Amino acid sequence: MVKELTLPFGTLKLPAFFPDATLGVVRCLDAADALDACCPGLEMNTWHLYNRPGAKLIKAAGGLRRFTGWQGAILTDSGGFQLYSQIRENPDYGEIREKEILFRPDLKGEKVHYTPEKCIQAQFNYSSDIMMALDLCTHPNDPIEAQERSVYLTVKWGVRCREEYDRLVKNVKGPRPLLFGIVQGGADRSVRMKCGEELEKIGFDGYGFGGWPTDENGKLYKEVLQMAADAMPDNKVKYAMGVGRPEEIAFLYRMGYSLFDCVIPSREARHMRLYAFLPGQDTPEGVIREDGKFYRFVYIMDDACTRDFDPIDPTCDCPVCQKYSKAFLQHLFRVGDSAAMRLATIHNLRFYSRLMEKLGEAL
Ligand SMILES: [Zn+2]
Repeated sequence: MVKELTLPFGTLKLPAFFPDATLGVVRCLDAADALDACCPGLEMNTWHLYNRPGAKLIKAAGGLRRFTGWQGAILTDSGGFQLYSQIRENPDYGEIREKEILFRPDLKGEKVHYTPEKCIQAQFNYSSDIMMALDLCTHPNDPIEAQERSVYLTVKWGVRCREEYDRLVKNVKGPRPLLFGIVQGGADRSVRMKCGEELEKIGFDGYGFGGWPTDENGKLYKEVLQMAADAMPDNKVKYAMGVGRPEEIAFLYRMGYSLFDCVIPSREARHMRLYAFLPGQDTPEGVIREDGKFYRFVYIMDDACTRDFDPIDPTCDCPVCQKYSKAFLQHLFRVGDSAAMRLATIHNLRFYSRLMEKLGEAL
């Protein structure tokens, strides 16, 4: 398993969890808050930033690091997943063509021709540390023909992304950004394996899991994630895109994945659900246990928190647990102050970065 990556920003230790900062910001946080939570990197979205404020503006600002003030690693997803899912919901958004994705943002105005080349050019304009190739997503329930077409186009676009990357990376001084491919193939093992083989021939620095990681009830597609992991070369980073809950991350780390991104911890924080390690489980042995029962939720609005002057998690070293009590946090939520969501998010993200540290020690 790869233990670290050399990136333009510096060295990234694995395993790592990147909170979602789709539009260049983790909701409710600024860059200093994300550093306080010890986040090693943020996941931003090439397409959404391409749409707003635009790749040219970000380039003029000096790249995403200068524009957003974030000094850690920046991974930019291609946006293929978001475009596909919006078109799937409403075909008026555009269409997926052999050579490009045609898309009309907000269902009005001119259609944007989003090509693999433009996707890579944008990521160079952003000065991303980890770039994702443009892929075509599917749903695991889609018929086999749709899975095969998605792999066919993902591989074809992967070649074009790689060529554009090779052309532009020559201008980069110092450590080069990395380019990851995305393994599609739905729930079909042979189609997944074929996608992995074809992508490996093109040659990427890492491989992401493509598709929905969970079903409509939020249950992890364990077998599909296993197929995708099997389809990826073991000497490269395996990236479980869009995962997940703490116990799911621990499970997938045992499976060989070592890079994760998800909206879950910041969303849970805004919904007043805060993580705490169970007593004695904030250890490498605790987080790697197979039943995944190493943490609990603190529901900050519970009556029990009203007069509880202890921190959210007594083992946590985040600035929130160092300074504030559960009672004060509940008070902030009750009076509707925006500091409540900010402090809750910092704590939850620190829980995730601590989880990654423990997992790294465990295996
Ligand atoms: Zn904390």
